[in-house]
Amino acid sequence: MSSKPWYGNGLRFECTQCGRCCKNHGQYTFVNLSERDLERIPKFLGLTRSAFLEKFCDVNPGFFPSLKFDEAACPFLDEHNHCRVYPVRPKQCETWPFWTENLEPEVWSGEVKECCPGIDQGPLYDQAEIERRAKATDEDFR
Ligand code: SF4
Ligand code: SF4
Repeated sequence: MSSKPWYGNGLRFECTQCGRCCKNHGQYTFVNLSERDLERIPKFLGLTRSAFLEKFCDVNPGFFPSLKFDEAACPFLDEHNHCRVYPVRPKQCETWPFWTENLEPEVWSGEVKECCPGIDQGPLYDQAEIERRAKATDEDFR
């Protein structure tokens, strides 16, 4: 008999558009980019992949490239807390907060809830949708 996970009755989430996750908040400020992201975002911006990597990314051997948060925020956050690349935003941004590593009760109610006011608010996501989002992210970063 398979038992339901702790989030088996669903989890609530609604983005308040506070922009906090797009701003520099110390050691957890990373947006990794998958191969799929590196195909879509430069194209959307009209840049070559190499120009995009040079201008917007930190690239270190053995790691996925990540967006440069040199300043106070992601380079794509505008003054109204909107994402300039929203239609092709990175997979990690699209599937937040339903990442595999966040699907532990103490992580969800701890650091995830602390940094994101949308946690436990708004519409209920069912188990299947939560797992679909987590899996989609894992698959892009295999
Ligand atoms: S921290 Fe949460 S509520 Fe704020 S913009 Fe990010 S996802 Fe939305
Ligand atoms: S790419 Fe867009 S959604 Fe992702 S951190 Fe930057 S501004 Fe936020």
